[in-house]
Amino acid sequence: MARYRDSVCKICRREGMKLFFKTDRCYTDKCAFERRSYAPGQHGQGKGKISEYAIQLREKQKVKRIYGLMEGQFKNTFREAERQKGITGENLVSLLERRLDNVVFRLGFAGNRSEARMYVTHGLVRVNGKKVDIASCFVKENDVIEVAASLKANPKIADNLKTAERRVIPEWLLTDKTAMNGKVLRLPKRDDVTLPMSERLIVELYSK
Ligand code: SF4
Repeated sequence: MARYRDSVCKICRREGMKLFFKTDRCYTDKCAFERRSYAPGQHGQGKGKISEYAIQLREKQKVKRIYGLMEGQFKNTFREAERQKGITGENLVSLLERRLDNVVFRLGFAGNRSEARMYVTHGLVRVNGKKVDIASCFVKENDVIEVAASLKANPKIADNLKTAERRVIPEWLLTDKTAMNGKVLRLPKRDDVTLPMSERLIVELYSK
């Protein structure tokens, strides 16, 4: 499957904020955004006028990259959000949060979403005791997510759980660090997601 191959730190610099794609490095002074908090490239420090379309596009790109999706996957998720009852933008955020790779990251088992996706696609994640290797699968209320026994023994997971103490585990999830599992207490709402994003701009972009 196609993936974003460029330096992820460039995404933070382009979006003008730390998006924590790496693990420990994001919390140290080695963070590229801490060193150069301007957009990468020749015109990175320019301040030209930005069109409304460019702002909407930028926001979509940012959210897409935060969750590590390619264009087609992101658009499909948006279409699913449109089909659901309620406010499309809020549905979109909820669906993105409910992706299994995101949940594995949020629970603290992985240092970032890309690592979480690798665990899922390599068959190292269980949902309600069954192997699920589809990162885009949406978790449901009361689902129990667990890493495979072989992965529990890997010190990397304990390290990840330690690093995750710097992040806030969302209220809709519960982590049991000793058992290395987590539970979906309820489905996520818009207010549960504190990431700086404006889903309204994405809805406007796709409504054109
Ligand atoms: Fe972003 Fe800094 Fe982490 Fe790189 S190290 S991904 S710039 S937060």
